[in-house]
Amino acid sequence: MFYKKDYSFKKGQQVSVDTLDKRIVIPHEGYAKHLEYIQNGAEIGSGTLWYDKRKKQYSLLVALTITVPDPQPTDHKRVIGVDVGQRYHAVATDTRSNAAFFSGKAARQKKDHFARLRKKLQRQGIRSATRRLIALSGRERRFIAAHNHKLANDILARFPQALIGLEDLRKICERTEGRRNKDASKKSRKNKRRRSQWSFAELQAFIDDKAPLAIKVDANYTSQACTSCGHTSKANRPNAGLMFRCESCGYEVHSDLLGGRNIALRTLVVRQDWAATGCLSTTPDVSCSEVKAARLSRYAELRWSTDTNPSL
Ligand SMILES: [Zn+2]
Repeated sequence: MFYKKDYSFKKGQQVSVDTLDKRIVIPHEGYAKHLEYIQNGAEIGSGTLWYDKRKKQYSLLVALTITVPDPQPTDHKRVIGVDVGQRYHAVATDTRSNAAFFSGKAARQKKDHFARLRKKLQRQGIRSATRRLIALSGRERRFIAAHNHKLANDILARFPQALIGLEDLRKICERTEGRRNKDASKKSRKNKRRRSQWSFAELQAFIDDKAPLAIKVDANYTSQACTSCGHTSKANRPNAGLMFRCESCGYEVHSDLLGGRNIALRTLVVRQDWAATGCLSTTPDVSCSEVKAARLSRYAELRWSTDTNPSL
């Protein structure tokens, strides 16, 4: 259907459509954002009328062309680092001292519940159990997706209009899940299962989708680098525990907050480069190891102080 020929939009959220019989003008609904585009003069393309038999409802699918202005560094005066993890599914912090912790506890319990059910059904191993297993995995997937959606919305509501920095997790599986450790305790194996099964990539994708602007930074050493003196070591996280304790300067901070702060600092560097060069790097370039090493050594110079602020 061609716009202005077979159909057109009228005032008062009405649409005029050609039918076999005659031309009709009827009110329509739509997503607020899409209606806004139409009102603000988006280029309207051809439309398709589609009937949903089950709902007995007609939908008019319309192609819209909109021009989005390029983002500018000055649009994003606040920089946020978001660390994803098990204990807290997300810790978001700005470059001052505002931070928000989003607990993963309730979701983890629900996930363990799913795991127990799955085990039980797998032991039964009959055909009806297989069907129920498939249904269960669907339910679990939807639960995780819904949780991730809400989490992403909550983070963005807490820090609106910010430039969001996320860890580039492309290599993280090889890095942390690599060799199977025979000595791993039962607890750490349990953690490993949870870590590999919670979809952090999905959470990041939702944040990326919904945020005004989100970028990825290198994930290397974000949980090991001291933001007070720069000392970087695995031993800064005794027993991979709740607290980060720098073995060199003694600085102590919640380990997930430290991760978020390191990400925020790196995001700040990316923003500064963006302001200086006009080019925004949305994902770290990992094609050249020398370039990456240079970037990491620059990150190693970063220190946290509450005066840290994007130069505006
Ligand atoms: Zn230190």
